[in-house]
Amino acid sequence: MRWSRFFLYTKKEAPKDAVTPSHIYLIRGGYIKQVAAGIYDFTPIGKMVLDNIREIIKKEMDNAGAQEVMLSFVTPYELWEETGRAKKYGDELLRIEDRKTQKFVLSPTNEESVVDLVRSYVKSYKQLPINLYQINLKFRDEARPRFGLLRGREFIMKDAYSFHSSRDDLDREFNLMQETYEKIFTKMGLDFRVVEADSGAIGGSGSREFMVLANTGEDDIVVCSECNYAANIEVAKRKHIKKENPIKTETIEEVYTPDKKTIEEVCEFLGVDPYFSVKAVVKKAIFDECEEIVVFFLRGTDTLEETKAKNAIGAVDLADASEEEVEQAGLVPGFIGPFGLPSNIKYVIDDDLRMEEELVCGANKKDYHIKGAGLLDANLLGNLTVYRDIAAVKEGDLCSKCGKPLKITKGIEVGHIFKLGAVYSEPMNATFLDENGKAKPFIMGCYGIGVSRLIAAAIEQNHDEKGIIWPKEIAPFLVDIIVSDIKKEEQLNFAEKLYKELKKAGAKPILDDRNERFGPKIVDFELVGFPVCVIVGKKLKNGKVEVRNRKTGEKFEVDKDLAFEKVLEVLNS
Ligand code: ATP
Ligand code: MG
Repeated sequence: MRWSRFFLYTKKEAPKDAVTPSHIYLIRGGYIKQVAAGIYDFTPIGKMVLDNIREIIKKEMDNAGAQEVMLSFVTPYELWEETGRAKKYGDELLRIEDRKTQKFVLSPTNEESVVDLVRSYVKSYKQLPINLYQINLKFRDEARPRFGLLRGREFIMKDAYSFHSSRDDLDREFNLMQETYEKIFTKMGLDFRVVEADSGAIGGSGSREFMVLANTGEDDIVVCSECNYAANIEVAKRKHIKKENPIKTETIEEVYTPDKKTIEEVCEFLGVDPYFSVKAVVKKAIFDECEEIVVFFLRGTDTLEETKAKNAIGAVDLADASEEEVEQAGLVPGFIGPFGLPSNIKYVIDDDLRMEEELVCGANKKDYHIKGAGLLDANLLGNLTVYRDIAAVKEGDLCSKCGKPLKITKGIEVGHIFKLGAVYSEPMNATFLDENGKAKPFIMGCYGIGVSRLIAAAIEQNHDEKGIIWPKEIAPFLVDIIVSDIKKEEQLNFAEKLYKELKKAGAKPILDDRNERFGPKIVDFELVGFPVCVIVGKKLKNGKVEVRNRKTGEKFEVDKDLAFEKVLEVLNS
């Protein structure tokens, strides 16, 4: 490719709303252009990176025996009514109507579509298993589209759906997909972790996420410092440690704690370690049909993990409760404790507090707390009370597998695999006949990869203050041949010859033959992020050119006849 003819225009400035490196560099590097919030055009070079990623995914999916399909992007609303998701999916689902007032949705995911496709052809267990995948557009009307390609509204996903006659066969495919994903992300040159993940309202026995490690990631992942345990904080477990409270109270007593509302204030006032205090977090839980005030009790030193909390009570969402709403529910803000609460409210107590003694908690009475309290059997606390794991694991907590300290790092979710079971096939009446001629719903799995998000994730992990540093596996071009001054025929001729040789060798060169000064050309090389460049400049007169390694910053002055070998050497290093 000759840059002088290439539709690639870099920019000095990024828009103000661009805060993450990938967003800034994708815009400044001329890879994408914003069309509307969360919607982007890809320029030729952007499309090249996308295609490199697609190709790696396609190859591995095909190798694993999955078959590529293309499901319609516009999907009948009717199908979404069959599973009940037409209502449940919420505002991320863009519903549209055609001229005949027939309703459709822009596909945010394609379980309904694929079940409809399969049920119309597959009738017998003999046709199973099947794994169908596509690499296609998705639309989700995200509340806060942000960070460029990381969280768009229109984006590209690889979604695969497998159909089985038994749970065992689903387990086999699930493991195969995990291996396949590991190969895919390794091939892309990314540093990633496979983590245990939330199965949400659907439940089911398995859900794993694939996280690209990057400081700017939106997800917190918990990893063990010693063993291979890794989990999204939404589901991460920790080991319970039994600590004795050095302060022993003779009797359970109510103590006067005027205006002491926060854990810190109360514990300081009473001279108690906050570890031995109980904190109440009040939330408004949103269910399918109603809203309700729910109280979550945790150790004073812990924080509520909202996904765990949601799952504990089967809520669709949790919102903050106002002081008014808390009072209306019969609670005393600042002094809420697990004993003697209104009997019509749901309470959840964190597992870590089960059977704990010598605790400080609210007395459900203004300006009073209780000292020396013990939490016993949930039954004693009223029939709406349950113990669940609702606390967020924190740095330094101990691994539930090996007991060593846990660490927290940031990750970007680039893939998610999921055992669905019959959650979609059952309501959609998608059945096959088993060996005994009995109709059974398909057992399903689904497997997603954020294809366009991967472009951004790769940059979040591989960049510096000058620009992108592409892993060579997905780089749009591998070698940038910079002609320092195109008016010098000698430079241009040599560069063109080298270009041809590199192209023939499959080293994906681009020839920067723009009528520009050297300065902007080297700045563009670093911004756009090609792995290697060759500078053909003044020194050519003495038979020398310079080869640079973008990642390490190393510069090599080499004999012009050795430039080809040096480029390949740097590329393979
Ligand atoms: P997230 O928690 O980031 O919203 P999700 O759980 O909604 O992701 P899935 O429904 O599992 O995502 O979709 C599969 C993959 O699609 C995700 O792993 C992610 O890589 C990608 N993806 C999801 N939402 C977006 C988006 N708004 N923009 C770009 N990629 C996305
Ligand atoms: Mg989402």
